[in-house]
Amino acid sequence: MTAVGARLVVAAADTIRTHADELTTLDRAIGDGDHGINLRRGFDAVAEQTEELAALPLGGALEKAGVTLVMKVGGASGPLYGSLLIAMGKSLGDGPVSVATIAAALSDGVEKVKARGRSDAGAKTMLDVLVPVRECLAANLDRPVPDILTTIQEVADTSLEATRDMVATKGRASFLGPRSRGHLDPGARSSTLLIRAVCAVVGESA
Ligand code: ADP
Ligand code: MG
Repeated sequence: MTAVGARLVVAAADTIRTHADELTTLDRAIGDGDHGINLRRGFDAVAEQTEELAALPLGGALEKAGVTLVMKVGGASGPLYGSLLIAMGKSLGDGPVSVATIAAALSDGVEKVKARGRSDAGAKTMLDVLVPVRECLAANLDRPVPDILTTIQEVADTSLEATRDMVATKGRASFLGPRSRGHLDPGARSSTLLIRAVCAVVGESA
């Protein structure tokens, strides 16, 4: 990984730390109130490995960070985000890092989240942000990077907002049935935060 990779780790951990209470409050409304706590534990553990991660190629670093998330996070979100990163890392391997290879890696990663969660977009989960962002990236590969970053963040924000009116059919929020409507999904919010953090670092380095 490079200095950019190390900045990605720090930025991801920072945004989770800054928004941990907000994520927990969202999860209190339709889950069990631990999403911020879960992710903070996981991303703090990843941040502690920044030096080791920085010494690896991006693919290997993503895999290692994913394994840490799977191991450190108790809730559903740890294995799901962990699977996302592990699959992205495997897809990238030691190969070149470009918009096209990142798009392909994200595609593989999102498929893994779907498989692991036995879920898809429309169930009021993180996939309601991850799937449209993946599709947006795939459709905009040829545009200049700053445009791609802006578009992705807009899609993430709109997709997050769309979870408010959804009824959850997966995860703990599904226990509430129609009463899950009217609240943002906590995992969709954390996905948006992470995507924004990644876009900010890539934007600074582009
Ligand atoms: P837990 O639900 O075990 O307490 P968290 O609170 O950390 O775990 O994470 C909850 C988030 O995980 C949800 O808001 C949702 O976005 C995501 N999630 C839960 N179940 C699934 C699933 N089957 N597929 C995709 N995402 C899911
Ligand atoms: Mg929870």
